[in-house]
Amino acid sequence: MLKTRFTEAFGVEYPIAQGGMQWVGKAQLVAAVANAGALGFITALTQPTPEELANEIRRTRDLTDKPFGVNLTILPTINPPPYAEYRRAIIEGGVKIVETAGYKPQEHIDDFKAHGIKVIHKCTAVRHALSAERMGADAISIDGFECAGHPGEDDIPGLILIPAAADKVTVPMLASGGFADGRGLVAALALGADGVNMGTRFCVTQEAQIPDSFKQRMVANDERQTDLIFRTLHNTARVMKNKVSEEVVAIERAGGAKFEDVQHLVAGKRGVAAMERGDTDDGIWSAGMVQGLIHDVPTVKELVDRIVAEAEEIIDRRLAGMVDRLAHAAA
Ligand code: NAD
Repeated sequence: MLKTRFTEAFGVEYPIAQGGMQWVGKAQLVAAVANAGALGFITALTQPTPEELANEIRRTRDLTDKPFGVNLTILPTINPPPYAEYRRAIIEGGVKIVETAGYKPQEHIDDFKAHGIKVIHKCTAVRHALSAERMGADAISIDGFECAGHPGEDDIPGLILIPAAADKVTVPMLASGGFADGRGLVAALALGADGVNMGTRFCVTQEAQIPDSFKQRMVANDERQTDLIFRTLHNTARVMKNKVSEEVVAIERAGGAKFEDVQHLVAGKRGVAAMERGDTDDGIWSAGMVQGLIHDVPTVKELVDRIVAEAEEIIDRRLAGMVDRLAHAAA
């Protein structure tokens, strides 16, 4: 029922995407999202090598015959990854949809487009959305300040950013940051988006391959349990508040911090080792304010079905009922 420009353009049943999530966007989750009728993305840089990304693409294809994509994120890293080789693995893997995110996506968009791949560019500012559209992006995912991971440096929440982008962007647009339920999906559509992208909400599902301790902590957390790190380094990241995030914030607050002063705390390697041990306090973990709206650990299918049913109910009954009442009042 919920047909939008996004579902039409990307051949999916529902206007819901699971965008790139470092350490989480793997075959099992992505295939579950695809099988539930939404659009999932494998996170390229979660795989240690381009060869392992190629394997992960194959594994996903074994688990679903529905469309899925790969995310390629271009942000500062301790060891710059061989982007061109990851790109090649995506192209040669026969992937048809890519989500790019981060800085200067032009060469990536050019190469993907030259190989007939559709590109959704995720960004955090209207000017960057327009620039990606000029570069040839087929869709935009506009990411508000509420989001997990990197919200940019403008601090514009979705309630403003989404309609501001919708006023100018002409290609289909997903709203990202702060979405977890049918209310959010309807709000995004009302604000001018063609669907939603969710990260943290999909982390807290049965198919996400992260320890239960992380899922339970995100369920227990409310909307205040995030920290903004790297503010002073102009690479702001919203992460789950924990011992390490508080230490990083304290170092930055002291003033004059360089990346080297926090590298031992924030390194992805440390975060992934802590995750593998199930220790939610020993590394950085991306999570959004939307934790305040997450109260359970459903299967992906239960989650997607619930969001769609709730959205349809709100549109068909709650909102339509309001219009009816106004019409009766006017009569
Ligand atoms: P990493 O170990 O290289 O770096 C850890 C964190 O430090 C990352 O957030 C990175 O952006 C930041 N960083 C690295 N060098 C920096 C510098 N010189 N100045 C400022 N910040 C710096 O990265 P990783 O954990 O192995 O992740 C690999 C890629 O995935 C990176 O591009 C990272 O940004 C991205 N990532 C994205 C998210 C998200 O958006 N949800 C979460 C984690 C990682």
